[in-house]
Amino acid sequence: GAMLMAIRLRGMDTEETLALTRAMVASGRALAWPPTWHGLVVDKHSTGGVGDKVSLALAPALAACGCKVRGTPGGWAGGCQAPLPICAQPQVPMISGRGLGHTGGTLDKLEAIPGFCISQSPEEIRSILERVGCCIVGQSEALAPADRVLYGLRDVTATVDSVPLITASILSKKAAEQLSALVLDVKFGSAALYPSQESARELARSLVEVGTQLGIRTVAVLSRMDQPLGRAVGNALEVLEALECLDGGGPPDLRQLVTALGQQGDTGRREGTRGDVGEGLGGGQIGTWPRVGTHASHWGFPPVSLTPRIPDCSGAPPMPPVSLTRLPPCPPGWVQGVRALPLAQVLHGLGAGRARVGDPVDPLVGAELLVGAGQHLRAGEPWLRVHHEGTLDTGGRRVLQDALCLGPEPPRAPPPLLAETIVPEGP
Ligand code: URA
Repeated sequence: GAMLMAIRLRGMDTEETLALTRAMVASGRALAWPPTWHGLVVDKHSTGGVGDKVSLALAPALAACGCKVRGTPGGWAGGCQAPLPICAQPQVPMISGRGLGHTGGTLDKLEAIPGFCISQSPEEIRSILERVGCCIVGQSEALAPADRVLYGLRDVTATVDSVPLITASILSKKAAEQLSALVLDVKFGSAALYPSQESARELARSLVEVGTQLGIRTVAVLSRMDQPLGRAVGNALEVLEALECLDGGGPPDLRQLVTALGQQGDTGRREGTRGDVGEGLGGGQIGTWPRVGTHASHWGFPPVSLTPRIPDCSGAPPMPPVSLTRLPPCPPGWVQGVRALPLAQVLHGLGAGRARVGDPVDPLVGAELLVGAGQHLRAGEPWLRVHHEGTLDTGGRRVLQDALCLGPEPPRAPPPLLAETIVPEGP
């Protein structure tokens, strides 16, 4: 506790953060991959947001595309001069987490699928990767166990928000995965861990510097998190939206973020690359959809149920009971946006999220946005569909009502979702 508090108050430089990260990796075992996968093992990490189902779409899209892994500055491999193959099958062993507070967790979303198992042994992970190319699982007890101890202590010593401690926590698990490349989505805004772009940039720089020193080709994207990503918030609904995205549909902001994060590894594409992530979304020809189908058999779906379009998908998570919430009185106006934080907080109260580690979540609780920024909303027109059991009290309704931002004029063009990319410094 004293060490954590000293780190929180005095900070640490890159070398010290690197030493702590290495010590945390050494507290457990590392995953091992075949030599032929050298340079090909990639992963993505997000600092968490509302409606963030990017991992569910990005992992199979990357695995399907065969992204270029020899780097150019600005790509995943920025700073890496080693001549690696340019058209190889990446392996995406994504080790994900659960949601805490208002932000969702990839594992909770996957567990909305009946039968999905997020615990796999290192041998099973390797076997799934060999067959599918991607695998999303929970953290193994054996990977960086010191992180769990320190994380628990950080919680009770008010040291959670220290940049070097966050850096060491995230990267110790990534280094234990023996990654070749890592793309980070560091979110900022009113519904993110960091409200300002400056504070998100500080974390992103620390992660990129330490990740690079660990030998992982690391790049970070700073993305805005004031509004929910996509139109669906809530575990089961987000799985369905991610599947829509993989099938070539889904909301444009989600597609943009999945594509941008994926293409960090695909700058300067050359002949021979199998496809890019943008094409990969919906690209039956390069294999994303069949790959989802194959992966789905590990998810508990009968694979065949995924090959037609989503609405025919009999194996999809059951839809929750629907209560269409018309929030009166809804005046006419132009939708300027929807605030993510109050929306997530109400859903959290309805059971979509957990307050403490180990609390259960209701996978079926969620909400669908029926409007987007720039749309005109007539008086009384519904703008949100909430999926929940029981009643939504007046207080909750009022908070939801206030989450909708209406104006007398159409909104100005929104600032770009992707604000900045942070690459390693130097040659
Ligand atoms: N995610 C982690 O794994 N650790 C942190 O400290 C913060 C986010």
